[in-house]
Amino acid sequence: MTGRFAADADLMTIDQALAQLEARLAPVVAIEVVPLRQSLFRILAEDVVAAVNVPPHDNSAVDGWAFRHADLPSDGVLPVVGRVAAGHPFTGDLPQGGAVRIFTGAPMPAGADTVAMQEDCREVAGGVVLPTRLKCGDNARHAGEDVTQGSVVLHAGARLRPQELGIAAAIGRAELRVYRPLRVAVFSTGDEIREPGTALPPGCIHDSNRYTAGALLQSLGAEITDLGILPDRLEVIQAALKDAAAAHDLILTSGGVSVGDEDHIKPAVLALGSLDFWRLAIKPGRPVALGEVAGTPFVGLPGNPVAVMITFMLIARPMVLRLMGATDTGLKRFAVEAGFAFKHKPGRREFLRARLAHADGRLVAAKFPSDGSGVLTSMVWSDGLVDIPEDRGDIAPGEMVEFVTYAEMMR
Ligand code: AMP
Ligand code: MG
Repeated sequence: MTGRFAADADLMTIDQALAQLEARLAPVVAIEVVPLRQSLFRILAEDVVAAVNVPPHDNSAVDGWAFRHADLPSDGVLPVVGRVAAGHPFTGDLPQGGAVRIFTGAPMPAGADTVAMQEDCREVAGGVVLPTRLKCGDNARHAGEDVTQGSVVLHAGARLRPQELGIAAAIGRAELRVYRPLRVAVFSTGDEIREPGTALPPGCIHDSNRYTAGALLQSLGAEITDLGILPDRLEVIQAALKDAAAAHDLILTSGGVSVGDEDHIKPAVLALGSLDFWRLAIKPGRPVALGEVAGTPFVGLPGNPVAVMITFMLIARPMVLRLMGATDTGLKRFAVEAGFAFKHKPGRREFLRARLAHADGRLVAAKFPSDGSGVLTSMVWSDGLVDIPEDRGDIAPGEMVEFVTYAEMMR
């Protein structure tokens, strides 16, 4: 990542930033084959093709009696000629005009096309009274109706959730090719930053960013190395960056990226690699630094704790996901009603911390009273962010706005 520099560059929109990330980043992690159970939340590194149909055979969706729909007499009575349970196929064809006792998942006897639920049937001597209003094919499941043999059931780049593991298992796969977890080095910077659990000297503050950013990375499936808190000293930061670059796929820092005298990330990264300063047209959040340290991607988030979480969601998350091999890096949004008035100066994309509540069947967002980028309690209080586009004007109560839940940050 080389190129444009900060100070005089124009503000960059999130969409421009994401397009640049998309163009510049490719998966960096190796591929390995792991047992299905170990693949949860990994990123798939192959297209998975079904070697079999699912279900493998036509079968019954209910407990009841299977029959040929065309054979059903007007009184619904058919003789019962056999029994078929799950795992025990019926041998031979269904005789003309007969019904077979069948249980859920049992293969349909050859010739049968319809199943009557046992709750709707009545057993009589030598036979069963079936309901006469069933349609041909009712309660029967067909081979391959879920997955057709030869089809791609999962695509490379998919994040493996429980349902993806389930479908892989259903087609008989015991192992999957997945990307190795991304190894991310995380540190905070600032002479005033102190570790939780230690006393605070005057003028100091506990480190929260390493905990939020570290947890966000872990929730995305990254393996983090906690490199602690670095002082505002160029040589120390530079040495730490150099060490981290050797053993990691990504370095993530917070603090030290504004333009103050004590902001040493820029010269430290520049001494070892390259750096773009992205002055994002967002609030809260800018600036974010992106670059590379001895070939290892680098992302420097701001210092303010709320800005850290928001820039993580907007910039670091898609970056991490792309480096991990994931293809879907988008954030799902949905429309909710604004339960507040808000003056929006067009030109900047704003993210408002908001909590959702139901009101007469509508989903209404209440806004946290303070917009301070250091007010971390606002993140605890809220469910997600109202996303106000650059070109939107003021918002009046009752207008629809876009909402992103915090759950989106973690997948
Ligand atoms: P900086 O970008 O380093 O100038 O930091 C901006 C603000 O965020 C300052 O008030 C810092 O004290 C605060 N800050 C920076 N890093 C952290 C951190 N790891 N935890 C909590 N607050 C931080
Ligand atoms: Mg600082």
